[in-house]
Amino acid sequence: MSAADGTARATAAAVADGSLRAVDVVEASLERIAAREPQVGAFVEVFADAARRRAEQLDAERRKGSPPGPLAGVPIAIKDNLLLRGHRTSCGSRILDGFTAPYTATAVQRLLDAGAVPIGRTNMDEFGMGSSTEHSCFGPTRNPFDPACIPGGSSGGSAAAVAARMVAIALGSDTGGSIRQPAAMCGVAGLKPTYGRVSRFGLVAYASSLDTVGACATDLGDLALVTRVMSGVDPRDATSLDHAVADFDAPPSSLEGMRIGVPSEYFAEGLDPAVEQAVRAALDTLAAAGAEPVAVSLPHTEFAIPAYYLIATAEASSNLARYDGVRFGARSGGDADLEEMYTRTRTEHFGAEVQRRILLGCFGLQRGHAEQWYGKALAVRTLIRDELAAVFARCDALATPTSPVVAFALGDRLTDPLAMYLCDTLTVPASLAGIPALSVPCGFSTAGLPIGLQLMAPPLGEPTLLRIGTAFQSATDFHRREPAP
Ligand code: GLN
Repeated sequence: MSAADGTARATAAAVADGSLRAVDVVEASLERIAAREPQVGAFVEVFADAARRRAEQLDAERRKGSPPGPLAGVPIAIKDNLLLRGHRTSCGSRILDGFTAPYTATAVQRLLDAGAVPIGRTNMDEFGMGSSTEHSCFGPTRNPFDPACIPGGSSGGSAAAVAARMVAIALGSDTGGSIRQPAAMCGVAGLKPTYGRVSRFGLVAYASSLDTVGACATDLGDLALVTRVMSGVDPRDATSLDHAVADFDAPPSSLEGMRIGVPSEYFAEGLDPAVEQAVRAALDTLAAAGAEPVAVSLPHTEFAIPAYYLIATAEASSNLARYDGVRFGARSGGDADLEEMYTRTRTEHFGAEVQRRILLGCFGLQRGHAEQWYGKALAVRTLIRDELAAVFARCDALATPTSPVVAFALGDRLTDPLAMYLCDTLTVPASLAGIPALSVPCGFSTAGLPIGLQLMAPPLGEPTLLRIGTAFQSATDFHRREPAP
């Protein structure tokens, strides 16, 4: 059960005026999850009882006259790396076996304050490390458009839950593309906000200088609302931006006078021709809506992947040092000496990809070589940020493919880390530069797999992205296509 147009905003409005009960909204979402989950596997846990109790409480509060929030009664799925007090958080990792969150992430708390109902936690690549949701100790999630294919990653559970219409909104985190890439592969919208726009407090750290919290949704108005609610400075996150939150939900306007840069390097070798064709057609649609396409060049794009994988793994090797068998979750070899206990705990409970990245991160930081690897990567990061800033002096936004490929078969790239890393070629530059980026559905391959258009804007340009995305969606209906049940 949801409001007439199926958006979270309409549902919340109906719950607020009493024409819909939050308990019925939650029940409908649980039914939908029960029907689709066996095929998709988007969730690692569904909070059925807690969600029902919270919905009852929201309905009771409304009857007593307390003002309902803008997300009243809206079920929201939460990626398994965002803390929700009293619930498990496992980051797709065995090393967090038995860990229960002692507090709630700021982003999640702001949604709770707006009336949202957490419905469950979604599957992910272990600690966010991956592009296919296959690196999870719970097993893979499947693409709702083709269960033989991956949903993208690392927020694959969240994107798949939205694509299969189990929820209207799901939270994700994006360090190098983990919201945008699965959104593209699952045919939904996904927004990575400006770095610092949404607090990271309560997000389990992967690479702190790159991590962001954002969401996936089918409706861009819903995506704007949820992002606005989560945004804003937080005294508990020193990197959160102390800058007024813009009105992301502004009504759509024409793209007349808007200049949209098209960087040639994003259409290079390795791009699936079906993706190129769909994105070029999307550029024509934007032009027809009044935007002026501008050819631009970002020559350092090819160095984004090596720079990202050095910086992200360096930060991860430090962030993941806390999982030592003493403070969190699992422990092995408790009767051995300390060194042996650390080694056994980490060897037995981290997956292969996480161990590979810790090793790579330590390698890039080792004394005597750090300048050559980590230092070089930082220098490249600055070049990429500067060349993007220079392009934004001439353009309001950039339009590119989100992923160079459509969803591939489960297992296809699992034994080839480099091939997996190359899935992130087009999403990591925005992460390195800290700028906001949005993926919206812009087509389908001949096999019926979704294709995403990525839009990037200067820092705090979320309203620009949503404006372009909304204009695009009012001219197309790719975002309306649902996977067959
Ligand atoms: N696929 C990229 C990685 O493995 C990005 C992941 C992310 O954004 N969390 O690092």
